[in-house]
Amino acid sequence: MNGKAPCTDSSLRESGLREELVQACRVLYAVKAAGDGLGGHLSARLDERRILIKPRPVSWRGLQPQDLIVIDFNGKRVDGAASERSAVREWPIHAQIYAARPDVQCVLHAHPSASTLMAALGIAVEPLDQDCAAFAGRLAVLDNGAVSISTPELGDEVARALGTRGALLLKNHGSVVAGADIASVCVTAYRLEKVAETMLRAASLTKLPVMSPEKSAAILQAREAVEPGGQGRMNHERWQMMQDYYL
Ligand SMILES: [Zn+2]
Repeated sequence: MNGKAPCTDSSLRESGLREELVQACRVLYAVKAAGDGLGGHLSARLDERRILIKPRPVSWRGLQPQDLIVIDFNGKRVDGAASERSAVREWPIHAQIYAARPDVQCVLHAHPSASTLMAALGIAVEPLDQDCAAFAGRLAVLDNGAVSISTPELGDEVARALGTRGALLLKNHGSVVAGADIASVCVTAYRLEKVAETMLRAASLTKLPVMSPEKSAAILQAREAVEPGGQGRMNHERWQMMQDYYL
């Protein structure tokens, strides 16, 4: 990006995505959804061949639009020379999810502490509150030996475990969140870490599970009636508020 590039639709779209990803990285770090900020990456699909992604050595808070790099679906940097700054070891998480899910436009992989500990302890989410109800019974955990997802085969395994859902936990490793836009990924990532904190607090106060299967099912059924599909619009409202609170 040098400001002198011709203003095509795709270059305008790319510069908009760069701005939005930078805002998203700052908010995700502020709400602890990016863990301690020393690992993980956030990306957006540019087109069928290219991915815009946060490079590993730049901080989630200090990132600038021009710091984001473009890689292809083989993990190769295509907007400049490959270097230490362009190293994204777990690029297959992003590439293989984009390849498997045409509906996905944004992917986050991070090592948030509460989510990671919840999966490590084998704690299943119960519908203790509305955020928990959004994940209860819908959050898969992939136990792949905590390997670094550095090959397309390992990325495929992650994409399969994610299925058609928006979030997945990697046991003893971290989380993956995918969605139709940057807003929904940020909101889901924020809620997931908050849900994990709630479940860990519950585990420290009482014996799990807190609820009987019948009670859980009744709450989930009631929630389904309230939140059947309109998550997209709601996530945009929530994302606006998160930016107001945390930027
Ligand atoms: Zn990782």
